Amino acid sequence: MAYVVGVTGGIGSGKTTVANLFAEKGIEVIDADVIARQVVEPGSEGLKAIAEKFGASMLNDDGTLNRGALRGHVFSHPEDKEWLNGLLHPKIRQEMITQTAQAKSPYCLLVIPLLVENGLQSLCQRVLVVDVSEATQVARTTQRDQVPEEQVKNILAAQATRQQRLEAADDVIFNENDSKPLSEQIETLHHQYLALAAQ
Ligand code: ATP
Repeated sequence: MAYVVGVTGGIGSGKTTVANLFAEKGIEVIDADVIARQVVEPGSEGLKAIAEKFGASMLNDDGTLNRGALRGHVFSHPEDKEWLNGLLHPKIRQEMITQTAQAKSPYCLLVIPLLVENGLQSLCQRVLVVDVSEATQVARTTQRDQVPEEQVKNILAAQATRQQRLEAADDVIFNENDSKPLSEQIETLHHQYLALAAQ
């Protein structure tokens, strides 16, 4: 079984950028956002249960999940949001365990944006936090997604604080414009993780 490094960080902190650099070294990357989509793809138990509970209006014509309809429904029915989380969170968690157990590289990355918020530390041997200032998060996300600052600030406010994430970190990558180059920080961590995984 592979050694699992959990990667987390706030919106626009650089998780994907960092994960891609590890992937270039042959390290397998498992992404919680991808798994969250897999557990509701057509033919899945998750999608079947959602359609049974909330009706066919939750499906698009091609049988995929109508995310907008589901989001709108649970926004106005908090008890159904709890039901939905109770349905999907265990499936997502199980799938993360399955996929990390199947990883073939000496260690693997499990990228979980809400690792700290959802207390998922037990799924990994080590927690790597990608850290930047809130100002940088806002600047990079507004630029990337072409959305208003206000929208990014609202998402930021709903996530763990920078301090809470750093308290959960075993390792930190600093991703400011004037930080040590990412490639150098990652090279150091890569060797550290290879050594830990070999133990
Ligand atoms: P999200 O949680 O929103 O999916 P993320 O944590 O995966 O975001 P990225 O998409 O990797 O973050 O990075 C956010 C934006 O910042 C991207 O446009 C990326 O190209 C840019 N970025 C990341 N790191 C740097 C850097 N060191 N210098 C400049 N731009 C960067």
